[in-house]
Amino acid sequence: MRDETRAVRYGHSENLQPGDPLHPSPVFAATYYAPGDPENSPRNYGRSDNPNWRQLEAAIAELEGGPTIVFASGMAAVMAVFGPFLRPGDAVVLPSDGYFFCRSLAETYFAEMGITVLKAPTADNAQAALIDEPAVKLLWLESPSNPELSLCDLAAITKAARAKRILVAHDNTTATAFAQKPLALGADFSVASDTKASSGHSDVVLGHVSCRNQMLADQVRNWRTLTGSIPGPMESWLALRSIATAALRIERQSSNAQRIAEFLEDRPEVERVYYPGLASHPQHALAARQMTQFGGVLSFTLRDQAAAERFFSTTKLVTEATSFGGVSTTAERRARWGGDDVPPGFIRMSVGCEAVEDLIEDISQALS
Ligand code: PLP
Repeated sequence: MRDETRAVRYGHSENLQPGDPLHPSPVFAATYYAPGDPENSPRNYGRSDNPNWRQLEAAIAELEGGPTIVFASGMAAVMAVFGPFLRPGDAVVLPSDGYFFCRSLAETYFAEMGITVLKAPTADNAQAALIDEPAVKLLWLESPSNPELSLCDLAAITKAARAKRILVAHDNTTATAFAQKPLALGADFSVASDTKASSGHSDVVLGHVSCRNQMLADQVRNWRTLTGSIPGPMESWLALRSIATAALRIERQSSNAQRIAEFLEDRPEVERVYYPGLASHPQHALAARQMTQFGGVLSFTLRDQAAAERFFSTTKLVTEATSFGGVSTTAERRARWGGDDVPPGFIRMSVGCEAVEDLIEDISQALS
């Protein structure tokens, strides 16, 4: 079965009886009827299980290719790999240009607990130079990286790390499991924020960790039960419903982003465009090899902060907002947050599912 079919069919209720709803409904339960030995009840308490989590986990597991645990947010999913697997004396290798909050989490709490945080850029597999350090326990990759969309060779760098018994986690948020399969490329964990394109309607905050094997998955699930970093049933249900249309949305977002990136490249007001689908992207050949589509996120640089702010004050179809992956096009000047090493006129755009001609007309008038 192909991903598009899997994603749609997993939204159906299991073992349908005549008169049943075709799709599962949200189940709101803090506690379940569980007489006698708890081992004999499929569920007993709302922090340890919920049918909507299980349905969503089964759907994502099919797409990622490994047992999956869903979390209250993408950051809760990141923490569910850092937390159970890093101990004082260990080192973790992070991308210096990846999602800012992952670095911040490691540097704020884990460094203080005696974990060494090593960083190198994503491009040119620069993180591979750091895995010879014997204390390294976890290699954290993010390709394409957010927000500059740099790539590393996932199969090559993962193989080198695994040979040294280093755990490899890949943050697959920008690509999604529809466009890139980290577990098939050798990673131990594929981690993602499902707040983005897989749920895709800018209305839920959610994350997941997919694991190479059941033993790792059991540790991640146990972390969730003990820390209580659980998603709500309603969010899980919304995400399952949304995943059925994710392939359609991501395909449209990718083709729109490709057209917009090519358009921006030809504009004199734009200093640089970052999009792995462009032939001019330094790792375009690698992207074409390890991704099946290039996604809806692109970045570009205008001359300065004033030019970027003028762009936002004149565009009508590009809403100024953070995050990415939703059906409507949004963008933001990343330097407004601090944290990312990008120029003041750097804009990250999340391309939506609108008609691309309308988007290009609007972006064109805003740049002019
Ligand atoms: N990883 C990446 C690459 C992200 O872009 C984000 C959020 O933007 C996260 C993780 C964290 O996800 P969440 O905001 O759902 O906690």
